[in-house]
Amino acid sequence: MRIRVLKILEQTMADGPGFRTSVYCAGCKHACKGCHNPQSWDFNAGEWMEVDDILAKIKADSMSNVSFSGGDPFYQVEAFTELARRIKQETTKTIWCWTGFTLEEIQADPTLAQMLPWLDVLVDGPFLLEQRDTELLFRGSPNQRIIYLHGEPPEDVIPGTVPLEKLR
Ligand code: SF4
Repeated sequence: MRIRVLKILEQTMADGPGFRTSVYCAGCKHACKGCHNPQSWDFNAGEWMEVDDILAKIKADSMSNVSFSGGDPFYQVEAFTELARRIKQETTKTIWCWTGFTLEEIQADPTLAQMLPWLDVLVDGPFLLEQRDTELLFRGSPNQRIIYLHGEPPEDVIPGTVPLEKLR
């Protein structure tokens, strides 16, 4: 199975807490006004990479956790689900995933929802230029939520964190 990848950043600290291997994918249809990376909207940008090869890069760094960004990984949900499942089954790494869909939109669509069991944290929702706040960590506007999908966040809670329990 393959993912259309824009780039893979190793040992970055920009996409979630601590060191992370960030997989940036090609393709996004959300068209948020003021998007930080409109070049990423093109589904033909970047290059195809086998899930096996991405996983090998991730495993080669024993220290870093993992982030999925783009573009929007949910437009390649089947291949990203395969990658996320194998990361969770074969390593102890955490996965943060950014998307322009809201959690509720993802939960309402069984195809999109297949990735949720394998993610630790979802940063959801479109970027809203009129609400832009450069003080926010790991997101551009306050409508975007940092959602711990499976239980309470760790002690050093990041402002804006929404444990899933509070959404029910
Ligand atoms: S979801 Fe992200 S990549 Fe897609 S248009 Fe919005 S800000 Fe840009």
